[in-house]
Amino acid sequence: MSFSTADLPVTIRDVFEARKRIAPLIQPTPLIYSHELSRQLNANIYLKLENLHEIGAFKIRGAANKILSLSPGQQQRGVTTFSTGNHGLAVAYIAEKLGIRAVICVSDHVARAKIDAIRRLGAEIVFCGDGQDDAENRCYELEKEQGLEVIKPFDDPYVIAGQGTIALEILEQYPQIDTAVIPLSGGGLFSGIALTLKSCDTSIRTVGVSMEKSAVMHESIKAGKPVVMKETETLADSLLGGIGKNNQYTFELVRQLADETLLVPEESIARGIRYMFDQHRMVVEGAAATGIAAFLNGNLTQTGKEIVVVISGSNIDLPLWLKIIGKEE
Ligand SMILES: *Cc1c(COP(=O)(O)O)cnc(C)c1O
Repeated sequence: MSFSTADLPVTIRDVFEARKRIAPLIQPTPLIYSHELSRQLNANIYLKLENLHEIGAFKIRGAANKILSLSPGQQQRGVTTFSTGNHGLAVAYIAEKLGIRAVICVSDHVARAKIDAIRRLGAEIVFCGDGQDDAENRCYELEKEQGLEVIKPFDDPYVIAGQGTIALEILEQYPQIDTAVIPLSGGGLFSGIALTLKSCDTSIRTVGVSMEKSAVMHESIKAGKPVVMKETETLADSLLGGIGKNNQYTFELVRQLADETLLVPEESIARGIRYMFDQHRMVVEGAAATGIAAFLNGNLTQTGKEIVVVISGSNIDLPLWLKIIGKEE
């Protein structure tokens, strides 16, 4: 590594502050041993179960850290976001816990089930037309018109530091860790975990995993600058979305901190989802299964022997999950 983690725009100190800030709202998650994967790979493989949070994904860590760091005045005016996935749920959940207003901007194409879930958490929904871009633009209008704070899904130092608290738990649960395998989309999760681990031990290997389809961060790193790609359907729907043309933090952080980024095919993601049920009796979503998929697919070869795979979430539609589980290997 040709740089010092102390010079990064987010430091392990920010992560410790985040842990203290979010402690009243966030429960630590378990780390479990995965016997079958460990046997197959001849290594010790542990799973960090971020699927077990109340809203079913790690995103409440970053959302909590960001929202709790706002001034009382800002909190009183409320927050807004344009994500309809796990980040939107996280913002709605934290706002509800704190008793503050949350407005989630959605395009007309967002699935009913997601809108209902956000509404159940007490957030207001604003429909903004055809595309995700319209929803994002509306968010920034609300910021100007009503003083709402826009809570970005990944490209924010507080969000990154919040996700980094996962790594503080891992270091306590499994200090021998030599490799972390982390799902990668916008890079908030990856950046937070990688900067924390490498601040403690620069020799810990960090690997980011995305689906083969529309892997924007992976392609951006290859191109040396943020690229724009079309979204295609994938089992790892929580990994879809761009990294933003004006990306300020995560592109650079992932570029500097990733030892490797790799891609997994859809069949392997399905096998990962099945593995979590067969071996651990757990329901996980496609994005969360990408780390296991990388092992099952055989494209993760250069690792150490003490490995932690981050299982990032559980929010998958039941019919899709049943279809995947019902298919024989
Ligand atoms: C958001 C999300 C990711 C990716 O996180 P980034 O910070 O965007 O890289 C992975 N898994 C799940 C379940 C998510 O919701």
